[in-house]
Amino acid sequence: MSGRTTKMLRAVLSVLHCTGADRLAAPFTGCDGVIFMLHQVVPGARRGFEPNGILKVTPEFLDGVIRQVRDSGFEIVSLDDVKERLSAASKSQKPFAVFTLDDGYKDNRDFAYPVFKRHNAPFTIYVPTAYADGHGELWWLALEEALRRLSHVDIDGVARSYSLATDAEKNAAFHDIYWWLRKIPENRARGVVRDLAAKAGFEVSALCRELVMDWDEIRALAEDPLVTIAAHTINHFALAKLRPEDARREMIDSIARVAKELGKPVRHFSYPYGDEGSAGPREFEIARDLGIETAVTTRKGLIRMAHADAMTALPRLSLNGDYQDARYVKVLLSGLPFALRDGVKSVLRPLSGGLRSEAPLALKYPASASTR
Ligand SMILES: [Zn+2]
Repeated sequence: MSGRTTKMLRAVLSVLHCTGADRLAAPFTGCDGVIFMLHQVVPGARRGFEPNGILKVTPEFLDGVIRQVRDSGFEIVSLDDVKERLSAASKSQKPFAVFTLDDGYKDNRDFAYPVFKRHNAPFTIYVPTAYADGHGELWWLALEEALRRLSHVDIDGVARSYSLATDAEKNAAFHDIYWWLRKIPENRARGVVRDLAAKAGFEVSALCRELVMDWDEIRALAEDPLVTIAAHTINHFALAKLRPEDARREMIDSIARVAKELGKPVRHFSYPYGDEGSAGPREFEIARDLGIETAVTTRKGLIRMAHADAMTALPRLSLNGDYQDARYVKVLLSGLPFALRDGVKSVLRPLSGGLRSEAPLALKYPASASTR
């Protein structure tokens, strides 16, 4: 989401909360469930140049969200329970909430897990297998680190040159380069970041070993039945940018690998980046062909019973740093911002098309800077 869109949405959410409009509208917009998306959970405030800081929330914020979700009448369930909850036979009257974390950061174990454990709340971590192997590329963090270290950058072969004397210049350069990389072919984009990291004096995959859990650590965490481990491709490529056979291979092999490492079947999948340019009907079909029970995008939206026909194209609600304010979570849970954006009629309209449409019942937001 652009900075301007984020600011607008924050302003709307703030007004809705202050006026109590979220409570008044709840009967019209209420949902059957919600899947929350998190990335890093770390203590302390963001400061200075940290463009990926939007992916971080504090343990205290997570604690507050869990309390608020339960206070709002939601039941926190495992991803394994979602299929049953969306079946006609489901007996539950309460809406459900699911917590998911992408990429497998060590901080999920160190700071998020104790919070979930304290609340006896289940959660799922989606792991890219190359990351757990220690040779994956957290390229967005590598780009940040390279720009932090350098005072000027020229990108080889293209007319892109940036002065990096101040945090403002570094931020502007990050966003410009980030969105350019998101558009160009994956292998080329990774090569650009590798070159920048080399110029800045570090190796991209070193970040992976520093920040992401390895298989032994993942297995140890997964011994707790509150924890579900699921697949997130091998290399964290935007699948829709790949050739069909390569996209399929990223999905099949990662699912098989996580199953082998954990010693049990993998039932869930998360599309890297998860926006329209990264996962679409082709990927939704592949996930369904592979027998995946749920697959999540980063399209914003709440879950309704109609999603039973679109289980491999589920929307999520991001709990990223831009919304690190408990008031926003309360308003988002009411579903009102989605109704306002789409028009209440379209939110209430019965769905058709299932997987043929793009992430049905999800908002058509632009690709967000807070999805990885
Ligand atoms: Zn990811």
